[in-house]
Amino acid sequence: MKVACITLGCRTNQHDTAEMQTLLEREGFSIVGSREKAAAYVINTCTVTQRSDTNSRLAVKKSLALNPDALVVFTGCYAQLNPDEASQIDGLDIVLGNADKLKVADIIRKKLASRDRPWRKSAAVEVVMSDIHKDRLFRTIPVRNFQGMTKAFIKVQTGCDEKCSFCTVVKARGKSLSDTRENIIRNIKQAVASGFKEITLTGINMGTWGMERNETFSSLVRDIVELPGDFRVRLSSINPMEIDSDLIQLIAETEKLCSHLHIPLQSGDDAILKAMRRNYNRRQYFEVVQRAVTAIPRLGLGADVIVGFPGETEEKFANTRALIEQLPFSYLHVFSYSPRRGTEAHQIKDDVPGNIKKQRNQNLTQLANQKSIKFRESFLKQQETALLENQRDAKSGWLKGHTGNYIPVIVEGCDSLKNSMVAVTLQKVCGHQVAAGCISQSPAHFVRGDSS
Ligand code: SF4
Repeated sequence: MKVACITLGCRTNQHDTAEMQTLLEREGFSIVGSREKAAAYVINTCTVTQRSDTNSRLAVKKSLALNPDALVVFTGCYAQLNPDEASQIDGLDIVLGNADKLKVADIIRKKLASRDRPWRKSAAVEVVMSDIHKDRLFRTIPVRNFQGMTKAFIKVQTGCDEKCSFCTVVKARGKSLSDTRENIIRNIKQAVASGFKEITLTGINMGTWGMERNETFSSLVRDIVELPGDFRVRLSSINPMEIDSDLIQLIAETEKLCSHLHIPLQSGDDAILKAMRRNYNRRQYFEVVQRAVTAIPRLGLGADVIVGFPGETEEKFANTRALIEQLPFSYLHVFSYSPRRGTEAHQIKDDVPGNIKKQRNQNLTQLANQKSIKFRESFLKQQETALLENQRDAKSGWLKGHTGNYIPVIVEGCDSLKNSMVAVTLQKVCGHQVAAGCISQSPAHFVRGDSS
């Protein structure tokens, strides 16, 4: 029987989908693409913005257009935060909580494979939702397939103990819980044995891994990069106050660990950071980044920024822009503030007009593009290691991938280079990518910055 999984949102959600797919395959279901007709659709939703809500609901419609009789499971953060509203969505059969995702295969088998009661769609909606804030065991399972990708996302931590005033995630994922060091290492060994060349560590507030047991995230990363095998490790988003000197030193000294940090900033104005309830101020953010940039040559540096948070005057916005100008970002994710139900900030008047939010978003996006071009141009004629993915670049038809410091590259080459680490020379900036020449398929060593 065919099951299709649709994932919206973050890398943690992508990991969750990969876990659900692994369990479904173990139950004998075959996983098909989201545009194929299937007996069941699992929609792993996101609720970070209003648009994520809309897309989550749209995914139900699209699935039922492919098979009106299909069993539809609605899980993820939208389902977790709005089970009643979700139950009103036409065509839904099951609303499944974030802490209940690993029950999905069992639930679908019981519904679709029951001899006594053959599956027939009805108006009744079943809600399976345990209390996400209650103490619970958090263990991830080994995953063999990530939707055909060449990178494996390994979730080391879930939930969050921070109270950022604009954030819905903390309510949807519960308190911070860390997987065990042993289980994480086991899952990574399994992923590497399955052929993954890049392991991306992820979580909701990843850098807080181990805090409840007085273990440090950097000590975990050290154990991971010391594992044998032809793979590299990338860190997904990590909050500034969770970046200790051990982690910076590890990135600086370890070829296997990508020279790439994504450090959410959100705002560069202290009053706005305070209103957002972020656990750092402008100076602290600046100092963390300075320490990283000084120690890690060639660092690829990204950040998330929110424009138009309530109370953001022109002057406060200028503070954000000024900080971004000072720091060597190689890319930015710029979001316009949208009030989210159930958040503290939702109580505050959303006083920045939509057209001003749009202007500020464009302003920072332009600045980010300039910085990105400058960053990529500074690597022309130099060598890097790129992981080439399974899918070719739609526009050029060339192979595509990323360098360790997160430069998107396109490389002319044959299919045998897919899913392999290659040494490349960066040649020409084209659009948001860099055209590169393949020097050798040399997984033996990682190239960082030899000039050709
Ligand atoms: S750190 Fe803040 S923004 Fe991130 S998940 Fe936690 S509460 Fe949300």
